[in-house]
Formats: sequence, structure tokens, C-alpha cells
Amino acid sequence: MALSLSKEFIRNLYNQRSQEKQVNGYPLAVSPLVVSIWKRLQQNNEKYRRIFENAAVGIYQATLQGQFLTVNPTLAEIFGYESAQEIIANSSINLKAKVYVDTNRHQELVRLLQEQSAVWRFESQVYRKDGSKIWISENGRLLYNTKGELVGYEGTVEDITYRKQAEVALNEALEKAKELSELNSQFASMVSHELKNSLTIILVSTDLLRLHSQKMTAEEKLNRLEKIRSAVKNMTGLLEGVLTISKAEAGNINLENVRVDVKGFFQEIWQDVQAMTKTNHQFKVICDHSACVTLATDIRLLRQIFFNLILNAVKYSPNATQVECEFSCQGAEAKFRIKDEGIGILPEDKENLFKIFHRGKNARRFEGNGLGLALVKKAVDLHGGNISVESKVGVGTIFTITLPKLSG
Ligand code: ATP
Ligand code: MG
Repeated sequence: MALSLSKEFIRNLYNQRSQEKQVNGYPLAVSPLVVSIWKRLQQNNEKYRRIFENAAVGIYQATLQGQFLTVNPTLAEIFGYESAQEIIANSSINLKAKVYVDTNRHQELVRLLQEQSAVWRFESQVYRKDGSKIWISENGRLLYNTKGELVGYEGTVEDITYRKQAEVALNEALEKAKELSELNSQFASMVSHELKNSLTIILVSTDLLRLHSQKMTAEEKLNRLEKIRSAVKNMTGLLEGVLTISKAEAGNINLENVRVDVKGFFQEIWQDVQAMTKTNHQFKVICDHSACVTLATDIRLLRQIFFNLILNAVKYSPNATQVECEFSCQGAEAKFRIKDEGIGILPEDKENLFKIFHRGKNARRFEGNGLGLALVKKAVDLHGGNISVESKVGVGTIFTITLPKLSG
């Protein structure tokens, strides 16, 4: 058995040698190696052959150009080959150098070997025979012939794909936890800052009314009361938004079939927006033939979507311009477009528009918390819908929402 293996082994090496002869002149480098391996096999007999054949790690010898000279069955298995012979036969086309996903890894391995004579735990991503990718860890050292000439390198290969996948999953989880904790502290400081501001307004206004009400005109008193009212509204809006987002995140919202009269629905929202902003924008609702639609929805959530979009349309566009809501049914989808003639959205802000607390660079002079669109996106996702935006700075913005409909 030992003898037949050795013959096979030598045959592979001679095949290798004759091919190298034609390729780039390495036969002389291989020849002493053949002799030394042959001798070693003869001397160390069956015991070492078994260790080599049954090792849990892949073992190989390769030329400096990355052509395998000898490999054990485990190495063939790691790379997805049927046998050691098959992988060696393929190595005539410089297989070892080609397997690295990052082509610089093989050069790096050889460079490190030349600098340090040996490398430990050299980790790379490699291709298997079927093109799938795995992670390996290599230990290697340089090989010299009897004349002390450098002829190649040898080493072991371990498949560490599971460990790498676990590492990636762990890193992702850590990254997510970090993001979440950053978001939480950002969230806490934003909410407390906003609440503190509103409470200060309330405190200052009530103190003024308490201490100086006799000296104040009716209009000044009304003005102060209005400030208190608006501060309370701001706090309520903030808390409502925060609660809706956390409810949606916890999956505590149930969708049921609701028939929506689209024109009436938009008019109701418009009345609220008008009362809140005292706007004199023109409001237009355009419906195609179907003015009613049945949606799987939570009506309060649906209201939040369009209330926030229409409020934004008013807030970010000059007085007296038009805000337009268009509704149409397209196949299995209900399509809504909210269009304004406002300041528009800068291209660099588009990517983060739906992220919580994100505010556009051109919107800082307007009051806001960056909560509205995050809430809208969450609600649209919850409906299995889609939201997109088209905008031109200084011209206007169109938000398009599609929601799956049950009937027209
Ligand atoms: P909040 O809604 O919490 O009161 P906000 O309006 O700033 O504050 P979002 O509604 O989430 O927050 O909007 C995020 C950002 O997107 C805004 O700050 C603004 O820069 C931009 N934006 C949203 N809608 C429009 C619009 N119609 N026109 C121009 N910019 C818009
Ligand atoms: Mg908003």
C-alpha cells in the first residue's frame, strides 16, 4: 500500500515536472524535492503515510508559483475535489494562486514566507472547485532542496468558514447593538431636549400670567396662552410619534379591512393641518374614477402617514402655494401622490430622509424633530407598501405611496 501510494505520488510529481518544463522552467527545482519526498516516504513508512492521509487538516506542498505538488485527501475535500489526484492534476494551471478571492492574498503569503520563513494562521477567502467561497486558515513554511535552494513551500489548511460566519454574525449583532444604543441615547437626549424646551415655554408663560396679568393687555394674555397651547401640542405630537413608532416596532398594530372615502379622508386631514398651521395654502384633491378604496390598514396609522406628508408639504413650501393630493388605483395597488411647490430636498439628504431624527440641511430654519418621515416609512412598510420621493430644490417635492388594495 505504501509502495503503491508512493508510485502514484511520484507519478504526479513527474507529471507536474513535465508540465512545468513547458511552462516556465521549474523542473530543476522540482527534481530534488521529488527525491527528498521519495526518501522521506521510504524512511517514514506506513505510520507517516496514515497521518498524512487521515489528518483533520489539509496538507500540501506547492511551488512558489502556487502549483500544488502534493496534497492529502483532506485538502482535496476542503477545496471540493474528488481526490488528491484531481486537485494536483488541476494545479498545472497554477491553481493555488487562483483560488484566492482576493488575488493579492497569494502574493502576500509568499512575501510573508520569504520575509519570515514561516506564517501562522494566514486567513483568506478562497474558491472551491464549484465556485463557492470558503474561509481557510493556513500555516506554511519555506521548502529548500538539498543544495539549500528555495523550491517552494508547504503547509496546512483548515476550513474556518463556520468560525468566520459566527464572527461576522457576532460583529453584525455588536454593530446593531451599538447603533441601537447610539440611537437610544440620541433619542433620549432629543426627547428630553424638546420636552425641556416646551416645559420652559409653559413655565415662563404661566409665571408671566401669574405675576403680571394685571399689567397685560387681553391680546398679550391671549398670546401667552397660545404659546402654552402650542408647547403642549408640540409635546403631545412628539410623544404620539414616539409611541406609534415603538408600537409598530413591537408589532403591536393589527391591520383590518377598512373602506376609505379618499376625498373625505384627505379633507379631514387638511382641516387638522389648517388648524395647526393657520396656513393659507391652496389644497387640491384629485381622484380617478374610484374615489373609495378598501385597504388592510389601521386607520390611525394611515392618517399618520398622510398627516405627516401633508404637514411637511405645508411646512416646507411658501404660503399661498398649492398642495396637491392625487389618488388612483393601479392593478392591485392604491397609489397616492402628495405634491408641493416648496424648498425641495437636497440630493445629499435623500439617502437618509427616512431615518429617525434626520433633518435636511436646507430645513433647519423650520421647526421639527425629524420624526415624521421615519414614522411614515414604518407605517408604509407595515402595510406592505412602498414610498418614493422625487424632488427639485426650489421647485417642489412629490412623495408617492403605493399600498396593496383589497378592492376599488
Ligand atoms: P417632524 O416631522 O418630526 O416635526 P421634520 O419635518 O423635520 O420634523 P420629517 O418629517 O421626518 O421631519 O422630515 C425629515 C426631513 O425631510 C425634513 O427635516 C426636511 O428636510 C425633509 N422634508 C420632508 N418633507 C419635505 C418636503 N415636502 N419638502 C422639503 N423637504 C422635506
Ligand atoms: Mg415632518
